[in-house]
Amino acid sequence: MAAEIIDGKAIAAGLRERIGRETSAFVEQTGVTPHLAAVLVGDDPASAVYVRNKQRACEKAGIKSTLHRLDAATSQSELLLLVTRLNEDSDVHGILVQLPLPSQIDETAVLDAVSPLKDVDCFHPENVGLLSQGRPRFQPCTPAGCQHLLAESAVQTEGAHVVVLGRSEIVGKPMALLMVQKGKAANATVSICHSRTRDLPNVTRQADILIAALGRPEFVTGEMVKDGVVVIDVGINRTEDGKLVGDVEFTSVAAKASAITPVPGGVGPMTIAMLLQNTLTAARLQTSG
Ligand code: NDP
Repeated sequence: MAAEIIDGKAIAAGLRERIGRETSAFVEQTGVTPHLAAVLVGDDPASAVYVRNKQRACEKAGIKSTLHRLDAATSQSELLLLVTRLNEDSDVHGILVQLPLPSQIDETAVLDAVSPLKDVDCFHPENVGLLSQGRPRFQPCTPAGCQHLLAESAVQTEGAHVVVLGRSEIVGKPMALLMVQKGKAANATVSICHSRTRDLPNVTRQADILIAALGRPEFVTGEMVKDGVVVIDVGINRTEDGKLVGDVEFTSVAAKASAITPVPGGVGPMTIAMLLQNTLTAARLQTSG
């Protein structure tokens, strides 16, 4: 049986439409327009594209967005000064610091400096703590996007064995946290794998749901999965000939899977939709006092 292709583009479009409607209702009720401030340091072309896409999506949903572009040689204290200014600006509800930052800047120090109420990426330790206790203030964008794809595709997660490949703070760890929580589209038994995991294929073959976030092009092959697995491919990798591929070898894995996300058009659009959702949540939190 051919695998169902989980259409992240269409699911994200539906979500963005709903957020757009909720945003206009919020503006009507409060007179406040949600505002996302994006900070881009340096001139990494991929980062510039990501920020532009996020800004466009904001505008379409009726969310104000402003871009603060800083030189690649910006010092940590200059960046921290900008973050403080944005924290104090009551017109700004969400702050996004686009990663990666240049090597002279301590990423953790900058992310920790973002006000927890404006932390729409859900990177601040206070927000990660709330998330791990099952009472999230914000949703971690990429993992929440993956979870939403599973929910929209009516994938049974309760009691399922979810194997997460990768343990980064941005994707792997929060992904595992979401899936293990009590509640809808969760209640799973979760394994987290990383570069020190022994006999990885033996673990991946046990997955009912496999979520790949390694940053290794086409790493997961058909032999590493069991029949009927649901596969969420978070990876975004560019091959030497300029093609965009995920962390999963699509053809061999799709031949065994019951459902799978494509790259592009899978998880990527969901990350942006969740960022919009978090910006609206931030505006609500700050407007209600
Ligand atoms: P990181 O590089 O921060 O983390 C990668 C993780 O994979 C690490 O935990 C690492 O283990 C593990 N890993 C790497 N190689 C292996 C291996 N051979 N076997 C087992 N584990 C391995 O990446 P991110 O989490 O930031 O991103 C992962 C991917 O997702 C990337 O392709 C990135 O571009 C993409 N991405 C996509 C997004 C989207 O919106 N679609 C958003 C964010 C990321 P260890 O910890 O031991 O080093």
